[in-house]
Amino acid sequence: MKKAFVIIIVLFSIVSCNKTEEKVEIKISKPKTKKVEFGFNYNDFNVVHDTVKKGDSFGSIIQGQNIGKKQVYTIVEQVKDSFNVRTIRYNKPYTILRSKNKTNKLQVFIYQPDALTYYVVDFRDSVATAYKKVKPVTFKRKIIGGVLKSSLSETLGNNSVEAALASRITKVFSWSIDFFKLKKGDRYGLIFTERFINGKTYDGVEDLQAAFFEYKGKIVYAFPFEKDSLSGKIEYYDDEGKTLKNFFLKTPIKFSRITSRFTMNRFHPVQHRWKAHKGTDYAAPRGTPISTTASGVVEQTGYTAGNGNFVKVKHNGTYSTQYLHMSKILVRRGQRVTQGQTIGLVGSTGLASGPHVCYRFWKNGIQVDALRLNLPTGESLTGNDKTRFLNQMEPLKRELDSIGNL
Ligand SMILES: [Zn+2]
Repeated sequence: MKKAFVIIIVLFSIVSCNKTEEKVEIKISKPKTKKVEFGFNYNDFNVVHDTVKKGDSFGSIIQGQNIGKKQVYTIVEQVKDSFNVRTIRYNKPYTILRSKNKTNKLQVFIYQPDALTYYVVDFRDSVATAYKKVKPVTFKRKIIGGVLKSSLSETLGNNSVEAALASRITKVFSWSIDFFKLKKGDRYGLIFTERFINGKTYDGVEDLQAAFFEYKGKIVYAFPFEKDSLSGKIEYYDDEGKTLKNFFLKTPIKFSRITSRFTMNRFHPVQHRWKAHKGTDYAAPRGTPISTTASGVVEQTGYTAGNGNFVKVKHNGTYSTQYLHMSKILVRRGQRVTQGQTIGLVGSTGLASGPHVCYRFWKNGIQVDALRLNLPTGESLTGNDKTRFLNQMEPLKRELDSIGNL
């Protein structure tokens, strides 16, 4: 456990050394330099920063500030067109500015529903007024990379500042790289943009512009490309315009014939009654290797009276496949498997009239016909698309390739 923790720290400093520094800097300088915020000079007020507690409302917050119940109602009515006080939510930050004189009167209430937006309710005049402001967002481009000092997997699985970037990277490369297999000494490079509010407050990763990982001695690139500007859909391609998405193998066994297709109604050969068959049967001699049709993690292994010995593999958040009636299971639950890897042997355990594998396919938790499925649409680029892509990609690739020299 201790070891894992150290790795996480080290990797986060690899991925985001600049940002960590920035954040620290902001924290330290906050009390000294942040005299003007939301357009108010804090020197002129008694300032309280707080967050909305459970059960708090606009009324309960300002009522404690020399404002009576009736007055609250009047204020709510006065500002309702600019600020609906019912939109105040638990755990969101607010700021209260009170007069610096003896009366210590409530002057301004500022509510921040998100990092970008804030509402100001000004009580200084006889009639309260309210307005909404949105802070300006700027983008900063960042290039990081070099040589991995440890495996990247812990970083990518970690739930921290960089979680958004990590999850984007794993998603983009999920069909082509097993992040658990990246090792010390492998090179990587990332170009991405980050959002900053008011030019200084970090607000997350905007987009991943280019990336590469050295994987099994090969460099795997990823560049985003919008094939159809109308759809706005962005897919990632390698430096030759090939899709990074891996299609499923057509069949779980090499030389086989289909003996039964996916149907909602078939006459069961063993049970001798009509029922749904939510899979495709491939007959093959007992002992024939069964391959997982795509990479993933073994989600389930076991035996049931109907399925016999079976294995279920989860490929990503969308797809899972299952293989039934095995004579032998060759993987364990939790094990990572790569496309084409043998996970078991053909048999006739469970409800089976002869040796075959029943291949089942899940999409978003629903069993579907693998033979009729439009599998991941990541087609490689051709023609004009490819030319356009290569033009966009080349300068980015040059930047990535120069990272080693940083
Ligand atoms: Zn079947």
